[in-house]
Amino acid sequence: MAENSDTSSINSTNTSARKSSGKPKSIVWGMHIKQRNQISKGHWSTTCNYCNQFWYKGSPAALEDYLGNSCNKALPDLIPDHIKDINRALVKAFIVCGIPFYIIKNLFFVELLKTLRLAYEPPSRNILSGHFLEQETAFVN
Ligand SMILES: [Zn+2]
Repeated sequence: MAENSDTSSINSTNTSARKSSGKPKSIVWGMHIKQRNQISKGHWSTTCNYCNQFWYKGSPAALEDYLGNSCNKALPDLIPDHIKDINRALVKAFIVCGIPFYIIKNLFFVELLKTLRLAYEPPSRNILSGHFLEQETAFVN
């Protein structure tokens, strides 16, 4: 959910901020991406804070995409709480939908998870059906 609202705020600030200073406003700036020199109105040369990848003209949309999918060093960004949330959602989906636990290792399913979040390492079938299931039922009860 947080990611959806982030994306929409980037888009809206992009269009509304263009007349004020010409400086693009996005969550990628500062926190993940360093602005260097202004190339033209609204365009800045930038570097990735994690791996120092350089862009002559970085657009917030392209940089968001880069951070989510391409930057290897930005991936450890996935915090343990987030992993817990993903695992809990997975367990719930598996149980409620009656999906067999071995599907967690199905290549297409793994590809789906990786597409959603490259840094996410799916749990093993045993961990999913054992440990997490215990946790989840404990949580529900
Ligand atoms: Zn990077």
